[in-house]
Amino acid sequence: MRTPVMEVLRKSRSEVRAAVMDDYSRRCAGFSWGEARGWLDGLPGGAGLNIAHEAVDRHATGTQGERTALRWLGKQGRQRDISYRELASLSSRFANVLGELGVPPGAGVFLLAGRIPELYVAVLGALKHTAVVTPLFSAFGPEPIVTRMTLGEGRVLVTTASLYRRKIAPIRDRLGALEHVLVVRDDDGELPEDTHDLVARLDAASDVYTIPATDDETPALLHFTSGTTGKPKGALHVHQAVVAHYATARFALDLRPEDIYWCTADPGWVTGTSYGIIAPLCIGATLVVDEAEFDAEHWYDVLESEGVTVWYTAPTAIRMMMRGGSERARSRRYPALRFIASVGEPLNPQAVHWGVEAFGLPIHDNWWQTETGGIMIANFASLDIRPGAMGKPLPGIQAGVLRHLPDGGVEEVTRYGEEGELALRVGWPSMFRTYLNEDARYRRCFVDGWYLTGDLVRRDPEDYYWFVGRADDMIKSAGHLIGPFEVESALMEHPAVAEVGVIGKPDPVIGEIVKAFVALKPGFVSDESLRRELLGFARRRLGPAVAPKEIDIQSSLPRTRSGKIMRRLLKARELGLPEGDTSTLESAR
Ligand code: AMP
Repeated sequence: MRTPVMEVLRKSRSEVRAAVMDDYSRRCAGFSWGEARGWLDGLPGGAGLNIAHEAVDRHATGTQGERTALRWLGKQGRQRDISYRELASLSSRFANVLGELGVPPGAGVFLLAGRIPELYVAVLGALKHTAVVTPLFSAFGPEPIVTRMTLGEGRVLVTTASLYRRKIAPIRDRLGALEHVLVVRDDDGELPEDTHDLVARLDAASDVYTIPATDDETPALLHFTSGTTGKPKGALHVHQAVVAHYATARFALDLRPEDIYWCTADPGWVTGTSYGIIAPLCIGATLVVDEAEFDAEHWYDVLESEGVTVWYTAPTAIRMMMRGGSERARSRRYPALRFIASVGEPLNPQAVHWGVEAFGLPIHDNWWQTETGGIMIANFASLDIRPGAMGKPLPGIQAGVLRHLPDGGVEEVTRYGEEGELALRVGWPSMFRTYLNEDARYRRCFVDGWYLTGDLVRRDPEDYYWFVGRADDMIKSAGHLIGPFEVESALMEHPAVAEVGVIGKPDPVIGEIVKAFVALKPGFVSDESLRRELLGFARRRLGPAVAPKEIDIQSSLPRTRSGKIMRRLLKARELGLPEGDTSTLESAR
């Protein structure tokens, strides 16, 4: 028997199909990335392809120039609308500021700020200048900042005065490559020593800037992602990625120029850059930027009062909204809202159904990762949603499920429902081009023309992909990918700590919480005050987004014969699973 929810899933699908997108299979059959490149303008005079030109400058003239590119909703109820024309001018000013400072093309420009307009201006201006842009999450503590800025050789940092005072000033002498700090003055203090006033520099700079010739392969974005071992990896993306940003926003988010679009991801993470800045601006839509942190009531307000039409969010946020019940959502009206999508962690079927109860629309899950640069698998507007599935590969994307062979090769799993590693045939424009300074590690991601994603999946006969878990020890907490090694390294700095193992402990709301197991050095006593001290120590070093929420002190930790701490065994014990069988761990998420 059909439930009302299923009715809505079907109804919404057929309405959307009629109004919105071409049929999925027709799209896939007729599609080539060459065709998608033709949807963009390219730089005037055939000078190449630059992300910022496609995102801003090409919309800046004529009537489109007056359209709001970015509506900023400030924390204290302030609001600022920036038109495409103004965004083009501001980002050109920023590019000129970089030029005045003598920053060469290719230099690393890092950003550490909340969601403020200057962040968006700086990202786009740096891309115009063909600098390499790295946004950092503003909730990072000093250690993740130092690690990433050192690896990425950040020469310029854009931040706020308050973040500078709290997070950068104490570590500035450790940031060897850093030459210029541009700050937005968000507190009443003096301009911090040895920094520039960003807004004053923008005001004084010319708003005329000619984007230099930009080759498709010119580096554009450096996004750090965590590894299970070793330091975070800098995934490097090039200007050609914009072809995928634009096409996938059309395919998977159904984004159109008339849309009021809200991506709730912070630009400190890849989703917040690819789909929180670049893709929607390339489409010519209006971007809603909300500075405040998550609050369910406030989010309903934004959706209603801004007339959001397309909303791209994340499972943790949806589950937090679900806790308040769908009545709260239903007490508002969202006549403009027509498409909701989610990414970053498994979206449970209940959440898809809750979308229907709360908003009259199902939530469309999609899948991608830092390395892929753009959405690869999605529940399309034009297709039946399979609640719990990540969806089907996008046009231009060939996905496969692989089994690893003892000789190091791979073969495709042909039986439906059988688990294997999700892999993608190389060759889409937003694929990362290397891990910065770690080419061998990059090359290990590829076998026989496949890019190996590190995710375990199953595929059903209709080619929908179902997430099973990670093939490695990576932790997904509130949508953030956290490498256990980075957390372990920070805790090892504490004088009492002899050994550490860090795992993701399943959590019904945020997916996983970071949990550390610690063994102490001789002479230290395990008690509550030491446990608290370790929690505080990790939080100060790593910041709240990465630090462990739980620490267990144990007399010793399990190790392999070669001496490696057995995270999987720690996890099995935590979950009460048989110790010999850690293979079921992934499906226990
Ligand atoms: P990141 O590189 O930080 O964006 O994290 C990418 C990882 O997040 C993927 O490799 C998956 O493990 C996970 N992920 C992303 N989207 C989904 C999804 N729709 N369902 C399940 N896991 C996801």
